[in-house]
Amino acid sequence: MAEKEIPYKIYLNESQMPKAWYNVRADMKTKPAPLLNPATSKPCTEDDLRPVFCDELVKQELNDTDAYIEIPQEIREFYKMYRPSPLVRAYCLEKKLGTPAKIYYKFEGNNTSGSHKLNSAIAQAYYAKKQGLKGVTTETGAGQWGTALSMACSYFDLDCQVYMVKCSYEQKPFRREVMRTYGANVTPSPSETTEVGRKILAEFPGTNGSLGCAISEAVEAATKQSGYRYVLGSVLNQVLLHQTVIGLETMTAMDKYGIKPDVIIGCAGGGSNLGGLISPFMGRKLRGEADYEFIAVEPASCPSLTRGKYVYDYCDTGHVCPLQKMYTLGSEFMPSASHAGGLRYHGMSSILSQLYDDGLMTARSVEQTSVFAAAQEFARVEGILPAPESSHAIKVALDEAKKCKETGEEKTILFGLTGTGYFDMYAYKSFNDGTMSDYIPSDEEIAASLAKVPKIQ
Ligand SMILES: *Cc1c(COP(=O)(O)O)cnc(C)c1O
Repeated sequence: MAEKEIPYKIYLNESQMPKAWYNVRADMKTKPAPLLNPATSKPCTEDDLRPVFCDELVKQELNDTDAYIEIPQEIREFYKMYRPSPLVRAYCLEKKLGTPAKIYYKFEGNNTSGSHKLNSAIAQAYYAKKQGLKGVTTETGAGQWGTALSMACSYFDLDCQVYMVKCSYEQKPFRREVMRTYGANVTPSPSETTEVGRKILAEFPGTNGSLGCAISEAVEAATKQSGYRYVLGSVLNQVLLHQTVIGLETMTAMDKYGIKPDVIIGCAGGGSNLGGLISPFMGRKLRGEADYEFIAVEPASCPSLTRGKYVYDYCDTGHVCPLQKMYTLGSEFMPSASHAGGLRYHGMSSILSQLYDDGLMTARSVEQTSVFAAAQEFARVEGILPAPESSHAIKVALDEAKKCKETGEEKTILFGLTGTGYFDMYAYKSFNDGTMSDYIPSDEEIAASLAKVPKIQ
């Protein structure tokens, strides 16, 4: 098809939306290492995980073999309210850059949670409801996950208890109010409401909190109340699986117009959005059907892939969750209070960790001020005010497009625009005022927290 026939926004119709999620583990030759029970150091069984997670989600978590897992009708109906999300050809950006590259982005910010997180929140709430539970507990960093989950829980009439990392709770009162509007109960973490919270507060008084610590509190709260389970917004295999709606829609839309991306870029916090975007493409690469370059982008302040180690580690500060083999900075790593709250996790999805370790994906770390400069450049021509997390992907997409301008290469660049940044205006203010700093942890700092990973490698 002639290129000028490609619209600015490619939408699928409802019948072209995926009916099953794609499980990339089925096509991986080296499977991600199994979760380990922290008490026995043996691989987790369904029985180990059932007290913490919903039954159906436990099955998805441990399923390394089925390539496709059906999306229940109820979830597909909810998806239809805000999906398919548009795949946008960034013509204006290309023109502004004067690049021969073709740039596409898949925009996930078209819902009230402002990010891709609703894709998994609605699935997890559905399975909790189906199991007859009363409610769920969770943590939230920047607040997008908590918002998404509170929307999903109110839809299915479930109680929603959110432990919100303290610095975000204070920096983002409006996020908190959105969650409360949807009926969620929001507690700043660490808190006095859990044993693990009290312990962390005693050890680190005045701490800003971290995702790892909020996770411990949420898990404790779930296991101590009957009829509750814990749900997580990233990192886990099940979450990455749900997020494959992003990649599946993208692939269908691109195939429809005969577009083949050369480079696929996404920001990586816990890895679910990137994993969801790249999975179907990675599947083709793993099966030898096509080749793509995949780039994970992480903040220089929390560089798990680029400076971490591939080892078994705790997923949370309180060490109540299963152990996971992943690229990690150590569960006690306390990232500086950067503005990309959704990327401040010490570890990484075990699926992405294995793909990265196998050389099937690359990673780059970028500094905060350069990320906001890219966000501004993008916002001024493409009309969307991006989330700081998403802007990590923008930064590298711009770098790649600018490289094409120098070399004359006509690469097709695809990136995931995970969300909008309207609740991040303090971050934009600090960039606009010129007071933003670029904190990069020292080797000593990383080595000190890595020294505390468990000795079961
Ligand atoms: C949470 C979040 C991220 C990080 O996503 P992961 O799937 O954990 O890597 C990126 N962008 C936005 C807008 C988010 O809310």
